[in-house]
Amino acid sequence: MSSSNPYQVAVDQVRSAATALKLDEGTVNILVRSRRELVINFPVKMDDGSLRVFTGYRVQHNNARGPYKGGVRYHPSVSLEEMRALAMWMTWKCALVGIPFGGAKGGVMCDPKQLSRSELERMTRRFAWELSPVIGPHVDIPAPDAYTNAQTMSWIMDAYSANVGHSVPAVVTGKPVSLGGSEGREEATSRGLMHCLREALRYRKLSPQGSTVSVQGFGNVGSNAARLLRDELGMKVIAVSDSTGGIYDPSGLDIKKVSEHKEATGSVRDLPSATNITNEELLELECTVLVPAALGEVITEHNADDIKASLVIEGANGPTLPEADRILYEKGCMLIPDVLANAGGVTASYFEWVQDLQYQFWTRSEVNQRLDRTMTSAFGRVLTSSLNEGTDMRTAAYMLAVREVVTAMELRGIYP
Ligand code: GLU
Repeated sequence: MSSSNPYQVAVDQVRSAATALKLDEGTVNILVRSRRELVINFPVKMDDGSLRVFTGYRVQHNNARGPYKGGVRYHPSVSLEEMRALAMWMTWKCALVGIPFGGAKGGVMCDPKQLSRSELERMTRRFAWELSPVIGPHVDIPAPDAYTNAQTMSWIMDAYSANVGHSVPAVVTGKPVSLGGSEGREEATSRGLMHCLREALRYRKLSPQGSTVSVQGFGNVGSNAARLLRDELGMKVIAVSDSTGGIYDPSGLDIKKVSEHKEATGSVRDLPSATNITNEELLELECTVLVPAALGEVITEHNADDIKASLVIEGANGPTLPEADRILYEKGCMLIPDVLANAGGVTASYFEWVQDLQYQFWTRSEVNQRLDRTMTSAFGRVLTSSLNEGTDMRTAAYMLAVREVVTAMELRGIYP
C-alpha cells in the first residue's frame, strides 16, 4: 500500500482534465473542493455495556446535476481526505453515465469485523439519525460501499423514516427487494463492469473464451465479477483474493466452489486444488485481464511495470495512482477507469430511486437491459473520446464528465 493521499490523487486527475478542457482557474477551484463536509462524533452502546465514540463523515462534493449520491463505507481507513476523493469520483461517475445525480460519500471509521451484528445495527442507526438533516430522497441518497450491504441500507431507511414520521424508501438505494430495492442492484456493479469489459475485448479483438482474468477482492464487486465473467462471458478466472490473500489455478477456478469455501472458512485461501498466493503476486500474474476490486491505491509506480495484463478494469474506486496510469498507458495496457468500469452500481441505484419515487417496479431483465444500454453507450463515448483526443481512457472519461458538470454549473450560474 502506498501512503499517498487519495484526495490529492483526485485533485491531480481533475486538474489534468481541466487543463485539456482549458477551464478557468475559478471553475477548477470549485471542482477540486467539496461543497459540504460533515464530521460526526457519535456514541454507541457496546454489547458489554460500555460507551464508544465513533467518527463518521458525509462529504457532499457537487449537486449541479441533481441530488448528491454515493455510498457509505465502514473501514478503519475511513478519513476526511478519503471521503473527499470518493465523493468527487461519484460526481464524475454520475455525469459520465448520464444519470441526474451529483456526488457524495460517507463512512464510519471502524473495523466492522470486530463489531457484533447488534453493535453494527446501533452504530448504523445512530449514524443515520445524525445524517438525517443532510440526506433525503431529493437531497442526498446514500448506498452501500465497502463493508456495508442491503441490511445496512434497511437500518438507514428505517432510522430516517422514523425521524420524518413516514416511510421513505427513496432515501437510500441498495435496499433489499422486499423494502423497495431493485431487482439486479446487488450484482449491478459487476454486471456493468462485465459490459465494459465485453466491449473492450471486442475493441482489442480478443475473444472472452480465450482470455484469462485475475480478480483482486472477493466482496460484492469482486465475487460477482468473477462469477459473471466466467458464467456469462465464458472467461477463465485464474486467480481471486480477499483481504487474507489469494489463490491461483491456471486451469481456471470454479467460482461457486470458491464462494462456498469462503463461506465455510472465512477466506478464499487454502482451497484444495489451488495454490495460495499473496495479493501482490495476484496483481503481477500472467493474464489477459486484471480486475482490482478491493480497496484503493494498489497499483503504484512500484508495481505498474510488473503488471502483465493487457487490460486493467477498475472494480474498486481509486486502485491506480496517477504515475502508474502513465506507466500502463505507455506500455499499451488499456485501463478502464473506476468512474466508468464500476458505474453500473450507481446506475442501478438510479433505477432503484426512480422505481421508489414512482412506487412501481421493474423486472430483472428490464433492469439488466437498461444497464447494458447505459454501460455500453458510456464505454463507447469514452473510447471514442480517448481515440480522438489521443489520451488514456481515464483522461478521456474525466474530460467528458467534467465538461457535463461544468455545463450544468454554468447554466445554473452563481446565486446568490
Ligand atoms: N458505492 C458505490 C460506488 O462507489 C455505489 C454508489 C451508489 O449506488 O450510490 O459507486
